[in-house]
Amino acid sequence: MVHKIKVLPEHLASKIAAGEVVQRPASVVKELLENSLDAHATSITVVLKQAGSALIQVIDDGDGISAADAQLAFSRHSTSKIAAYEDLENIRTFGFRGEALSSIAAVAQVEMKTRQNGDLIGTRVTASGDRVSEISEDNSAVGTSVQVKNLFFNTPGRRNFLKSPSTEFHHCLNVVQRVAIAYPEVALTFISDDEKIFSLHPGKVRDRLALMFGEKLSQAIIPVSEENPYLRVTGYIGKPDFSRKTRVEQYIFLNRRFILNKSISHAVLKGYEHLLEKGSFPFFAIFLEIDPKKVDVNVHPSKMEVKFEDESAVYRFVLHAVRSALAKHDLLPVMGVESETPALEATRFSSPAPAVSTMMKVGNWRDLLRPEAAPSSRESSQPTGGSDALSSHTDLSPEVKPIAPVDGGIDRTRVTEPRDSRLRIMQLHSKYIVLPIDNGLLLVDQHAAHERVIYEQAVAQFEKHSGVIQQLLFPIVNELSAADVALVEELKPFLCDLGFSIKIFGKTTVILDGVPIDVKPGQEKTILQEILDLYKEDENSVVLEPRERLAKSYSCRAAVKAGDPLNLEEIEGLLDQLFATKIPYVCPHGRPVSIKISLDELDKRFGRTS
Ligand code: ADP
Ligand code: MG
Repeated sequence: MVHKIKVLPEHLASKIAAGEVVQRPASVVKELLENSLDAHATSITVVLKQAGSALIQVIDDGDGISAADAQLAFSRHSTSKIAAYEDLENIRTFGFRGEALSSIAAVAQVEMKTRQNGDLIGTRVTASGDRVSEISEDNSAVGTSVQVKNLFFNTPGRRNFLKSPSTEFHHCLNVVQRVAIAYPEVALTFISDDEKIFSLHPGKVRDRLALMFGEKLSQAIIPVSEENPYLRVTGYIGKPDFSRKTRVEQYIFLNRRFILNKSISHAVLKGYEHLLEKGSFPFFAIFLEIDPKKVDVNVHPSKMEVKFEDESAVYRFVLHAVRSALAKHDLLPVMGVESETPALEATRFSSPAPAVSTMMKVGNWRDLLRPEAAPSSRESSQPTGGSDALSSHTDLSPEVKPIAPVDGGIDRTRVTEPRDSRLRIMQLHSKYIVLPIDNGLLLVDQHAAHERVIYEQAVAQFEKHSGVIQQLLFPIVNELSAADVALVEELKPFLCDLGFSIKIFGKTTVILDGVPIDVKPGQEKTILQEILDLYKEDENSVVLEPRERLAKSYSCRAAVKAGDPLNLEEIEGLLDQLFATKIPYVCPHGRPVSIKISLDELDKRFGRTS
């Protein structure tokens, strides 16, 4: 008789992090589910009664256990999964401690029915309070069913320590959901107090997310997929506008094992950079695959914490993966149609606007324009001045009263109907840029856009120390508070990188004899104080590095403002620069830079059916 399950020798058992395996019903659900997955189950059913305190049952169609091994499975440190120390370094199964079944049996009444494929007859084992009480033949189905009744019946202290049934149920649900996400190819049914919570067919991760969290979520996620020889990162991350105020629904799986890891979570959030408002958290389900040798899962018995051989390399790669996923996808906030009138209520669309899922690669903004509205070649436009440039450059739609970008401000009187009467680009109220695009309209906030451009330039200049200085003919004397001068002193290397040429005199005087080229004429006198004030105000100060904080306050102050008129060339230049940035959708403060309104939405607003 060959045993697959062996009792680990003492010297090996003692190397495995020991601890309480069974803390609550959810821990039992987790251990049993993991055993089923280790046994290659393709279909698993989880049944709870009274949130698991009366009954937890897990039924699988996996490998099953031979009659000879069935009893051994309940001995402490008995496992079929590792035999030697070397195996500990290369764990590919969930289990390896051989502790779960014995620990569960110690605090509950357990019945296991199991049969291996090919065996004529199965086995039934019951165990309770540390001993196997009965073993018999049984005509069980292929696979294994484990019933755990009256958890903590013999440890009233722990039973009383359990939280409310709804809390315990939710812990169990979380465990089942994690398996559902990580093992979409396994059919999974979850029943609680005779109610079917869900029954999931084999499918893809995305299907599972849609079934468990709703179609809306599955429309608001984008795929992540990056790989290097050491690590693979796949999965989904939520679009920034789907973020929540609480840190829920964030999953990290390492080799399909759910883990908690602050460093990786941080890397994901960091990947969003300023795409998220302060205090909001994105959805994510990230899968990391790594050679098991490069990671230690043996840190804690619940195995939710792991140690990486090179944690900072993992951090950087996850950050890179998230950034490039976000950069690849269209994240323009889409204006939703919310009808106020009850009459329109019926036509209100329940599914997300199609534009939400339309992926738009960021590139040249000219590619976004309606084909017939693409700017004509430079020769034909011949910009000789603001309004002339406009009349040859700009399409004026018959329906839309044009508000023209011209030198020196909006001047409606100088706008004439051009021959080619189609609308192209315009500046709206010296604040927004309006662009007709392929399937609708793009609105750009000029200040936020410029802020993003300057911010990214500033960050690059910090790296390369490449700020371009505009020498001032007459150096400017800034009288600042002693505290501000101290701050200038501290930030001086970064200010120099930006293009400031600064000399500090005494405790309260700073002389500027050069400013960055982005600083507009007339702004030289006040820019330094403005930056310092904003720098001090920034609420994110604790989490941001000084230079990041400086880049934010500088970009905000140096950028064009709402109310600044721009001529067409300036607008085009701004859009060119904006679309060359890494993240053209949000300003460094997390506000949107542009909003897309699709034709569909306009049609809906106007009650059009086609
Ligand atoms: P571990 O999973 O760490 O090996 P457990 O106490 O959870 O320890 O299980 C002991 C052994 O019982 C496992 O190694 C495995 O051989 C067997 N076993 C437990 N559950 C199942 C199952 N659902 N299907 C097949 N074998 C199982
Ligand atoms: Mg196990």
